[in-house]
Amino acid sequence: MTPIIHDNLIHIPGSDGGSPDEGLLIVCDFDGTVCRVDMCNEIMDHFAGDWEAIDRTYALGEVGSRTAYGRIAPLIRANRLQILDFILRQERLDLFFPEFLSFCRGRKIDLKIVSDGLDVYIEAILAKHGLEVEFYANRLIFQEDDRIEFDFPPASGDCGRCGTCKRSLLDRFRPDYDRIIYVGDGHSDVCAAWKADQIFAKDILYEKCMGNGTPCLLYDDFGDIHRSLEKSLAGGFVKPA
Ligand SMILES: [Mg+2]
Repeated sequence: MTPIIHDNLIHIPGSDGGSPDEGLLIVCDFDGTVCRVDMCNEIMDHFAGDWEAIDRTYALGEVGSRTAYGRIAPLIRANRLQILDFILRQERLDLFFPEFLSFCRGRKIDLKIVSDGLDVYIEAILAKHGLEVEFYANRLIFQEDDRIEFDFPPASGDCGRCGTCKRSLLDRFRPDYDRIIYVGDGHSDVCAAWKADQIFAKDILYEKCMGNGTPCLLYDDFGDIHRSLEKSLAGGFVKPA
């Protein structure tokens, strides 16, 4: 897909007479978004052997990620050191993300990561790049004999399909913010994105938004989002903090 960045300004609340002090939150997916590589897929490809059939059932929507993780767990044989070593060699953080994060912090815009991936690599990759970001993700638990288990702290009882129910997280964040911008690219972002006030989408999320007539802005990297947001701020849509 050729990225086309729409030239519209992000409509940020307060721009049409609302309070300029309202809180803005940016919620970002991790795999394929903050990290250009889908680390979960990389780990499964490397350590889980023949997991493609399970992945297909997930991609087709036949099972949710929680069920898929449960089927994949017995296939993986790896210890923490092996996985961490692999992660740090394979990761590819969006080069524009650190600068975007600084920009948000300078503007008192909160940013949180919500991921249906795994805590172990999000923590390691953020630490490698000296970044501290609040994140929500599934847990990879290392057991004896190189066996692993998954746990799903951010799961929701609603439909129970995703390990991390991003939609429930957005509901949890909502009372503290006047406006939420969502950034994502995949299946697990769809329910959450539709609850946000503004969506930056690419790949599967973009296709889903287009298919449902949900307004969104197509982006490729955080440089695009940074420029778009800065343009909105310069347009007086939000007063700098
Ligand atoms: Mg993703």
